[in-house]
Amino acid sequence: MRITVLGKSPAWQDADGACSGYLVEEEGASLLLDCGSGVFSKLRRFRDYTDVDAVVISHLHADHILDLVPFASALTYAPRQQPVPVDRWPGTDTPARPALYVPAGGREALRTVSAGGGMRPEHVERAFDLHEYAPDEELAIGCLRVRFHEVPHFLTTFAVGICSANGGGRFAYSADSAPNDALVRFADGADLLMIEATLPRPEREGPRGHLTPAEAGEHGSRARVRRLVLTHISDELDERWARDEAAKAFGGPVLVAHEGAVYDV
Ligand SMILES: [Zn+2]
Ligand SMILES: [Zn+2]
Repeated sequence: MRITVLGKSPAWQDADGACSGYLVEEEGASLLLDCGSGVFSKLRRFRDYTDVDAVVISHLHADHILDLVPFASALTYAPRQQPVPVDRWPGTDTPARPALYVPAGGREALRTVSAGGGMRPEHVERAFDLHEYAPDEELAIGCLRVRFHEVPHFLTTFAVGICSANGGGRFAYSADSAPNDALVRFADGADLLMIEATLPRPEREGPRGHLTPAEAGEHGSRARVRRLVLTHISDELDERWARDEAAKAFGGPVLVAHEGAVYDV
């Protein structure tokens, strides 16, 4: 299984960056995990968007879903998706319509986002084959198997675990998450944990919703994962500081995600 980082920014993009988006590929199966602002453009550098089998959304925050709107526009309006020849495209009877898996409430949220942007409310669900997944559901996307586990955040959020029916390693993604034990149990023994490390220090007030790099390292250590990659971290924080803090708590080397970075699991 191959994971390509398309976007690793938190809720606002790095310079020339994108919010959350990870391309997961194995033997012809391809899955886009989260689709934040800027991700569709980055996706096009690595994969034909009509070849994406499914998009899986961890939670409904803007920085994880907003590029579903331009992705849906491409699937709807691109010359290559039309039934008749347009420019160099010959016309197709079978336009791409990837599956889209969203948490409960996702259909309504995407209707609101589309309508607020002046599109038809059904803009996204017409372009994609939309499903609201149940927390205990296991998805089969080609040979990829996808599981979910709820983690504490400001709205309903699921960590995502992906493995392949062909064997190989297990990939875990924290999504956005406050410190918790559920993620540690869910990611236990994973070959790679992509974990958020959003905060330079814990939230000053209100409920927790994110992790510091040290907390990310500590979660990785408790989950006994083989490799730990920090993500959802701004280019306005010192990357070396974040890596060192996480590595100290993890007890081994830690990577910080970069757009375009590729990990084989
Ligand atoms: Zn979030
Ligand atoms: Zn986020």
